[in-house]
Amino acid sequence: MASEKRQVHFIFFPAMSHGHMIPMIDMARLFASRGVKATVVTTPANVTRISKYIHRADVNILTFKYASEEAGLPEGCEHLDDIPPHLWHNLPMASQKMQEPIAQILRDHRPDCLVADMFYTWATDVAGRYNIPRLVFHGTSFFSLCLVTSISSYQLSKTVSSDSEHFGIPNLPDVIKMTRTELPDFTTNEESDTGKLFKAALESELKSYGVVVNSFYELEPAYVEHLRKEHGRKAWHIGPLSLCIKDVEEKSNRGKVATIDEHECLKWLNSKEHNSVIYISFGSSVYFSPSQLREIASALEACGHQFIWVVRSQKSSEEEPEGLLPEGFEKRTEGKGLIIRGWAPQVSILEHQAIGAFMNHSGWNSVLESITAGVPMVTWPMVADNFVIEKLVTEILKIGVSVGVKRLDGIKGDSIKSEAIEKALNKIMAGEEAEEMRKRGKTLAELSKRAVEEGSSYVQLDAFIEEIALYRQR
Ligand code: UDP
Repeated sequence: MASEKRQVHFIFFPAMSHGHMIPMIDMARLFASRGVKATVVTTPANVTRISKYIHRADVNILTFKYASEEAGLPEGCEHLDDIPPHLWHNLPMASQKMQEPIAQILRDHRPDCLVADMFYTWATDVAGRYNIPRLVFHGTSFFSLCLVTSISSYQLSKTVSSDSEHFGIPNLPDVIKMTRTELPDFTTNEESDTGKLFKAALESELKSYGVVVNSFYELEPAYVEHLRKEHGRKAWHIGPLSLCIKDVEEKSNRGKVATIDEHECLKWLNSKEHNSVIYISFGSSVYFSPSQLREIASALEACGHQFIWVVRSQKSSEEEPEGLLPEGFEKRTEGKGLIIRGWAPQVSILEHQAIGAFMNHSGWNSVLESITAGVPMVTWPMVADNFVIEKLVTEILKIGVSVGVKRLDGIKGDSIKSEAIEKALNKIMAGEEAEEMRKRGKTLAELSKRAVEEGSSYVQLDAFIEEIALYRQR
């Protein structure tokens, strides 16, 4: 059986952003560790990004060139990191330009399966030309897939007359209410560019072989079943994918090379008591305004908790992060706080026993990494399905508190005053409720490890590989 599995070839085609690329590279590593042939397809500029964290894994990389200029992007712009926000609307066109190079790769290599990001709305059809099953990867939870599919398919946001009025989502395992202000426009406005893209992605998904999800059964069992039964998806849960990286160096270069020496960072944490440090980071693509950064800084000074804070300046901003923080802030918090400018070795930080809470934007990777480490959260939704994930964390899993944002406000973020931030940080760090959340978090962390070691995710991955091997033999 092992030699049969080894012959099965999966091609992974990630979207060009950290939140989508990191978990798909993890996925390729995971498949390779089960003895199948795993190949990641990407553009030349992304190879350096990827190779730093797969150099010890048995993963192949194939590259293709595409004309970024023809998609309205500057030459060599092959990752969200390199693309100024005002050009992000050209990304769907950039995706279209990749269609022919990918068809060529599929024609030449004839893999047994193509796992392609949801953004590649043409991928099911292109793979279909060569009778290759296409799997969709969304980079989010079952919970979010269920809610977003219902909200868009039934056009639920049209059932209310104002942006702030709540609407329910029918047939869900739990009562969940949302407002229009909490939703990205791809779910509320079919005619917007993102609305059209989302519709095309949904159609492509319905024709695809199925969906592969970075989650584990025990985390959201009712929503795994709901996606399968109510929405009719063939769906596999194979996560948490971040658990597949054991090597310390690869872990710290996950996504990008960390801008702080990992050992220095861990040494700093080693000097702190258990559960005494708050980790603050908002993913890879959202930025706060200078005034919002100052509110966070004041809250940190006022609450007095120790912290690691990843601070990044906006791409278009002339100001450097040091200029964005209040004068003297770093001096006053010396010893108590560690500022990381740029890229943090997030998974290693979260896994450290000194970390007591994680304030984040409810990006799925960050949330799942926090769950895996058993760390409770303060949620601060900013883009995409962040509000939906916040509901999973605060209302269903009950392992986090909301900072109180009411409106999805793109990369600018909502304006939250320091008092509200301080209150949320105090609530997550101490008291009976915090203790309960920490306990629930620890249980989920244990379940997540069991799922990938010998449990639900391990078994699903085996079954999935087996199914693809059989599909090929038809
Ligand atoms: N990340 C990291 N260091 C940083 C910032 C982010 O390693 O300084 C990683 C993080 O561990 C996660 C990903 O980048 O895997 C961010 O994904 P998420 O879904 O949380 O947010 P997004 O960037 O997609 O909004």
